[in-house]
Amino acid sequence: MQIKRRNLYQISLAVLSLVFIALYGRALISINHGISLLFCAFLILLGVLQLSLAVLCLLEASREEKELRSGLIDPLTELPTDVHLAEAVRKFLRETSGDKNRPKYSMVCLALIFFRRFSAMLGDTMDDGLLRVVGDTLRKNYTCVVRNSGPRFTFLAPAYPTLSFDLTNALSMAILENLGRQYADMTNFRFGFCPLIREVVDDPSERAIQEAYSAARMALRYAEDDSTANAVTYDKKLRERIQMERNIELRMLHALSGGEFLVYVQPKHHLVKDVCTCSEALIRWNSEEMGFIMPDAFIPIFERNGFIVELDFFVLSFVFQHVQSELAAGRKVLPISVNQSKVTLAFPNYMERLQNLVRRYPVPLYYIDLEVTESALENDAGSLLSYVYAIKELGFSISLDDFGSAYSSLNTLQGLPVDTLKIDREFLARAITYERSKIIIRHIISMAKDLGIEVVCEGVETEEQMKFLRACGCDYAQGYYYARPMPFEEYKKIYLAD
Ligand code: C2E
Ligand code: CA
Ligand code: CA
Repeated sequence: MQIKRRNLYQISLAVLSLVFIALYGRALISINHGISLLFCAFLILLGVLQLSLAVLCLLEASREEKELRSGLIDPLTELPTDVHLAEAVRKFLRETSGDKNRPKYSMVCLALIFFRRFSAMLGDTMDDGLLRVVGDTLRKNYTCVVRNSGPRFTFLAPAYPTLSFDLTNALSMAILENLGRQYADMTNFRFGFCPLIREVVDDPSERAIQEAYSAARMALRYAEDDSTANAVTYDKKLRERIQMERNIELRMLHALSGGEFLVYVQPKHHLVKDVCTCSEALIRWNSEEMGFIMPDAFIPIFERNGFIVELDFFVLSFVFQHVQSELAAGRKVLPISVNQSKVTLAFPNYMERLQNLVRRYPVPLYYIDLEVTESALENDAGSLLSYVYAIKELGFSISLDDFGSAYSSLNTLQGLPVDTLKIDREFLARAITYERSKIIIRHIISMAKDLGIEVVCEGVETEEQMKFLRACGCDYAQGYYYARPMPFEEYKKIYLAD
């Protein structure tokens, strides 16, 4: 716990008052014997000192209140807010500039992540407790610590390779000791680092420090989005990635109107009939400036900026048009699945746009399947679930994509009207090495069958995998073993020719 200036004044005031009372009492006892002038003057001086301290206490209390009210101090952790950061860092770097042993420093942005499984248990009080413990631990061990909005903090720390590991350990230990194992287990951390370069350290200008702060915040944003690493450093690689993402955002609108997005298709192979009976539409971007881009490079960006809604409706319209024109021409058509991002599903007039498409292209919806990921339904199960029911009521069939890649698989299945379940390709990849994964896949397939749900397994790359799935009674296999995603025209030639 930090001792504030006001507390020091109060303690001094209390001590002085005690001395004053003792001396005053002594003076009263010896009043008949006469009191020296010097003693009287001393008592008066003590009185004046007390009064001054009391005034200082009041002034300090009002200054603190002003700071709280103007947002300079966070009332919960009693840490400064980031308004103070640049000044504090500048002061610290100047004060330590003569120190030959001064380590290299990184600006660190930290965010607390609460595991979804436990978040319902976290009441407001517990949130406050966690933030206080984290704030106190940082204050004790690091310098220039400030609280940002939400569960976020920024500070300076010596830069070395295992910093994020040590920080995680120190914070987890503090939470364990103060709040118990349950809370230590449910809290995780993400870090964004910006190593302070020599120019900033030697001449710590406000602008240079603010830039380092923005860079650390940017690195944290990437760390928060990344499920594989808990720390991201603002370095050359990240700068290139940011530049690439900016280019993508700058060009996306033009790309859609300019026909740069291409709908590719990958067949799904029926394991009993041994033919392709349906397929999945997968988007590609053939950019004039940036070349051929795979969806993993742009879909996360579009999900963040909302453009994915336009892209998903572009693919959906394309598929509707294809089905309508082929049926009208009396040609062969096979059902096609279209991916629907969780952002698209949550879009306010999603249902309205879907209904408009259905009205515009009156084709049997048997031909169009919507793939929704399991993770889309986890975060906001209530409202997204009601969308899924509404989609189903319109007549679309629904596939649950990436099944087995998240936590609540079995729960999701209980209340969801899905027609098909797609076993995640990572699951199948693990089955090569782990017998346990094979057992799980076998049981998922048999459980789905009992529930009347069909099963597709993704990422089938070998004959051995195909034979294993066939023996388990899996309905469909999708993967490079049969065919890679291909341009739509090629798919039509190979699979839809009579
Ligand atoms: P997904 O929906 O799980 O699609 C399957 C991905 O697995 C595709 O990657 C496909 O090319 C790949 N794949 C298929 N067979 C194999 C195999 O045997 N081995 C391996 N290693 N991979 C295989 P792709 O086309 O790069 O798409 C990646 C993801 O991007 C998709 O994963 C989907 O989540 C997303 N995506 C693609 N198109 C769209 C779209 O139109 N809308 C939305 N919202 N997402 C899309
Ligand atoms: Ca999919
Ligand atoms: Ca998938």
